[in-house]
Amino acid sequence: MSQGSLAQFAQALASGEIRIVDLTQPLNSSTATIQLPPEFGKTWPFRLEEISKYDSRGPAWYWNNFACGEHTGTHFDAPIHWVSGKDYPKNATDDIPVGKFVAPACVIDVSQEATKDADFLLTIERVKRWEQEYGRIDAGSWVLMRTDWSKRESAEFLNMKEDGAHVPGPHPELVPFLAKERDVIGWGSEGVGTDAGQAFRFDPPFPCHSIMHGHNKFGLASLCNLDQLPPKGTLLITPPLKITKGSGSPCRVLALVQA
Ligand code: MN
Repeated sequence: MSQGSLAQFAQALASGEIRIVDLTQPLNSSTATIQLPPEFGKTWPFRLEEISKYDSRGPAWYWNNFACGEHTGTHFDAPIHWVSGKDYPKNATDDIPVGKFVAPACVIDVSQEATKDADFLLTIERVKRWEQEYGRIDAGSWVLMRTDWSKRESAEFLNMKEDGAHVPGPHPELVPFLAKERDVIGWGSEGVGTDAGQAFRFDPPFPCHSIMHGHNKFGLASLCNLDQLPPKGTLLITPPLKITKGSGSPCRVLALVQA
């Protein structure tokens, strides 16, 4: 047993041969939340309320209440989040098989393009160029789009203008390609949501939600530290909170990488 692969893995972690990168943004009252037009329901911002801090309310202990929407900060999108994914069995945060919360990831670096163009869309052609260099995206992999968007401050991060948000995302034709031709497990981005800022104008609107969840795939939003990951060879750990029939939840996303 001591020579088993899990023991070797533990040794590699202890020796630093495998390192863990935290892809999670801190959660606090400044955490940016998605802004929808006024006719739609609103997500709560993250809110912390102190219960006691070694004082008369609790002399030896410190704890808080917190409140937030399921899709706040770095978070996981379950298929049930979208109407197109609502009828899959085991499509919510509490019943997705836990084996799906550990999966490899491909990281596509378009940070240069995204810096020049806030509306940059990752296309099939660009992904195929990436594949020529690093190999085909394996079925069951995450595709993470590195834009360095996570390095922006709140207003610039949401980048909301009069005509809506301007944030990079996947091209509407790329999403079905990744879901069907590559059979990925999901899509991850550094923006506040998985879709591009202008995706409400796309056909279909919000393709990374409608098509990904329509194929029982997942999403990860508001990721950071993607610049610390190699193009291939990362293993992601992404368990959401076990909210009964949850559509998603804030998530501590960890990436295991070979040092
Ligand atoms: Mn979401």
